[in-house]
Amino acid sequence: QAYHDSLTGLPNRNLLNDRLGLEIHRSERNKLKLGIMFLDLDNFKNINDTLGHLMGDKLLKEASVRLLKSIRNGDTASRIGGDEFTVLLPDLSDPKEIVVVAQRILRVFKEPFLIEEFELYCTISIGITIFPTDGKDQTELLKNADLAMYHAKNLGKNNYVFFSRGLDLQVKQRLETENLLWHSLRENRFILHYQPIVNLKTGNIIGIEALVRWQKSDSGLIPPMEFIPLAEETGLILELGQWVIESACNQSMKWKEQGIHSLYISINISSRQFSRNDFLACVKKLLKKTGIATHAINFQVTENGLLGFGESGKIIRILRDLRKLGIKLSIDDFGMGFSSLNSIREYPIDTLKIDRTFIKGIPHDSSCAAITRSIIGLSKNLGIHSLAEGVETEAQLDFLVNNQCDLMQGFLFSPPLPEPEITQLLMNKKNLYN
Ligand code: C2E
Ligand code: CA
Repeated sequence: QAYHDSLTGLPNRNLLNDRLGLEIHRSERNKLKLGIMFLDLDNFKNINDTLGHLMGDKLLKEASVRLLKSIRNGDTASRIGGDEFTVLLPDLSDPKEIVVVAQRILRVFKEPFLIEEFELYCTISIGITIFPTDGKDQTELLKNADLAMYHAKNLGKNNYVFFSRGLDLQVKQRLETENLLWHSLRENRFILHYQPIVNLKTGNIIGIEALVRWQKSDSGLIPPMEFIPLAEETGLILELGQWVIESACNQSMKWKEQGIHSLYISINISSRQFSRNDFLACVKKLLKKTGIATHAINFQVTENGLLGFGESGKIIRILRDLRKLGIKLSIDDFGMGFSSLNSIREYPIDTLKIDRTFIKGIPHDSSCAAITRSIIGLSKNLGIHSLAEGVETEAQLDFLVNNQCDLMQGFLFSPPLPEPEITQLLMNKKNLYN
């Protein structure tokens, strides 16, 4: 009992430590390398939380069977806690042997687990250290293998990564940034900038897109592409996203009080937020709290964000629920993903935003021009709006007007601006054409 895990029957952490100590001595004597794998299931927590501990236990048992089947005679698999496993691979003449084993494990875990009536998908991530290169004792070898495993997760899971010097620095920096992001949220170190959306027929501003920035230090603002991906991976996006919605709605209400009417506020929503079951409830709460009218809100979701859902029925349900509330919806970066036109037809959306990469190419690049024309045409046929983003030149503007695009935003009219400047611009009723 003291040396084995009662659920899977595999050696536990105690026995692993003994074995690892012995193997280190042995490989010093034999002058052969020793490999250590640190493994962690990718989807265990999710399955355990949604289907319960009994299913979780069954999955762990099955995982240990698969692990044992994938390793060589003489290798030792242990379970050292939760969904964490290790494998010791002694007598390696070439570290490449370990790659063969790692690839076999990944392959075996890609198959669905059939447990009771469920078909569960649970891949695995693997970090690898080699004695003597990557550590002198048990503690260091395991710690570094764990770090490499963490890196494999960051690279998108279902993956193996060899430890290397410098990896710890990378991981440390990531952790530091993650920590700093959480602090910044508590200390109110995020702000919104606002970019006007213009009607191409009248030249009037009809909406404002809210874009978040991070005041990491006093020396400047960090653009969203440098922290949104990390915020999405770590789950911080849920709280940050709520903050963005609330702040943007509050600002919109302030404009209304200042006599600036009939504008909608357009807010970027990450698919991580969007796919949460409580998203709708959170939105309703914020609507009540800020007092904003639902028709004054537009949510932008990227085309890839929608595709990432997998289950299209669920997306459509959420979109319809939001739409029923009166909230308008845009598909961001349209043309960059691979949605079928049929699914677009089913989405209850108001606007397709033509991705900046296509606008960059018009009017001279013929394929950019063709794609832009097609998206405008598609929007017309669907009875929704087309919005060109990233419009920087008069030539681009002319092309869009000639091809009857409905809306534009871009540096040509105005970059995203901080609060006092944008309010000034709205007060002055700036117009694209005069
Ligand atoms: P996006 O939604 O495609 O936003 C437009 C980006 O294009 C903005 O960059 C904006 O500053 C930039 N832009 C606007 N006009 C022009 C132009 O004429 N030329 C060029 N070259 N660029 C232009 P920004 O603010 O750095 O935002 C980058 C991305 O970050 C956004 O892309 C959006 O996907 C994401 N993002 C921003 N705020 C939020 C947020 O609150 N939540 C989430 N989930 N994502 C956000
Ligand atoms: Ca956007």
